[in-house]
Order: sequence, then C-alpha cells, then structure tokens
Amino acid sequence: MRGTIPGLGHRRAWIAAVSCWLAATAIAQPADLLESFTPPAGWTTPFPAHRVIGNLYAVGFEDLGVFLITSDAGHILINTGLADSAAPIRENVESLGFQLEDVRILLCMQAHFDHTAALAEIKALTGAEMWGTAKDTRILEDGGFSDPHFGGRVTFAPIQVDRQLSDGDLIELGDIRLTVHDHPGHTEGSSSYSMTVTENGKDYRVVIANMGTINPGKRLLVDPTYPGVAEDFAKTYREQKAMDVDVWVAAHGSQYGLLEKYQPGQAYDPGTFVDPDGFLAEVERLETIYLEQLAAERATSGRD
Ligand SMILES: [Zn+2]
Repeated sequence: MRGTIPGLGHRRAWIAAVSCWLAATAIAQPADLLESFTPPAGWTTPFPAHRVIGNLYAVGFEDLGVFLITSDAGHILINTGLADSAAPIRENVESLGFQLEDVRILLCMQAHFDHTAALAEIKALTGAEMWGTAKDTRILEDGGFSDPHFGGRVTFAPIQVDRQLSDGDLIELGDIRLTVHDHPGHTEGSSSYSMTVTENGKDYRVVIANMGTINPGKRLLVDPTYPGVAEDFAKTYREQKAMDVDVWVAAHGSQYGLLEKYQPGQAYDPGTFVDPDGFLAEVERLETIYLEQLAAERATSGRD
C-alpha cells in the first residue's frame, strides 16, 4: 500500500520520549548483558561526517552507517551506533553545520543493537518521533528481547515507536520525499529507504539499502529462525535486483565500500557514491550465499 504520512505533533513526541527514557533507565543496561562482547573496531572508530549526495549525509562510524537527511522543516536520522554513540553522532551532525535538536523523525533499517542502541537517548535529546516498520516495532519496543535470533543474548535501550511504516509509504518532511521498502530477512522488519536527489540538473536515484546478510547461526529452512525467513530473504534479493539505483549506501560502510569510495576530507562530488553495478553485484553475491545455505540445509535434512 502506498500512503502519505503528514507532519507530526512535536509536543506529543517529547512527552513520549521522556516517558520512554524513564522506562528505559529502570531496565538492566545492555552493557551488563554484553560483558563478553567486544564490538568490531569499525563500529566505534569515528569517521568524519560527509555529504553523500544532495541532502543525504553520513554521520556515523567507519563501519556503522548512520544517515542524516536534511530539510528546512527538520531532519531525518536513520540508525545510530552502539549505546554510547549519541555524542559522536551529535559531533558529526554539528560538524556539518546542522543541529541534532532539529531531527524530527528517527528511522532504523533493522532492529539490531548495533544500529538501534542510542535511538532512545537521541529521542530523549531531540523529541523526535520514532517511526518503524510494523514487524520491527515489537523488537524496538522490548529492546531486542524478543528478537528470534539475538533475543536474550544482546539487548539495547527500548524505544517506543510512534508511527508504524508499511511497504511503499512515503515519508514527507519539508521537501524530503522518502519511500519505505520492506526488505525483510536480516530482521523480520528490515527496511530500505529511497529518494530522488537532483544535483546540477541531474536526477539521482538514491537508496539507503538494508542488505540481505545472514547472521551466523541463523537457520533458513530447518527449524527456521522465524517462520517465513527464507521467503523473506528471497523477496529482498528479488526486489533489490529490480531497483533502479544510482547511489547506494548501507548499514555498514564495509557493505557499500565506504573506505574505497571516499577518503576523509575529499571534496564533495555527486558522483562519488554513484555505483549501480556495485549494488547489483553485492545483492547477487549475498543471494548466492543464501542459496548455498539453503542447499546445505536441504542436504543435511533430506528435504527438498
Ligand atoms: Zn544486523
């Protein structure tokens, strides 16, 4: 379904943010549960904020993608990093001349802790509303506890979802027109976002893509991690291969070749992240891994 989402009530968002923050502080901190977990260096390595194209900026870490889409009516922030990432994200946003307090809508691409852990804190800081896909809402609101793969092993500060998003929804804020794409599999509610950006009279189709990677230990066919997970991944690869993409970024810099495409300090050029062939190749590479895992599960189970 395609729907248009109007503006939002800022005061209501702020009240929700405060009550959510109070609820979150009463719950065991994720660090308690993650004592033995050492995040990959790239998840915390700062990376200079930079303009990807048009009003899309990267404000995250070397290998955790956090994206800011700006407008005169406020901004959209997609993803965070780990639990202590609010301060470095703020520094990155301010280094571009924007204010974190002007973020009006928070989105995420997948309800996994490495992309969600500072959402509750940023919501409290900004009064922004959290908009999430229907199927990731439960996991966002219980801080990852009911995640069928990581639940009980890793958690993050829960965040209340103010508005549920559906496939094809158009998110409008100022002159931002951002389309929601359900790309499930990595999580049940994983999503990508797309928009058209015009630079020097040329239109660029831009996708902030949640890639169909399969976490180690996830099961597709035999005792599947969640019912329908294999079909979900298949839908994601099929739809992503059919997308018209000029510029793409993803939840991890390593997925879209950030370090190969961009050197810190490099002058802005709308062509820097233009890479339609790279996008298709990466989707096809992930689909091959998926098909190999399906075949391996079939072979060991005797199913066909
Ligand atoms: Zn993930």
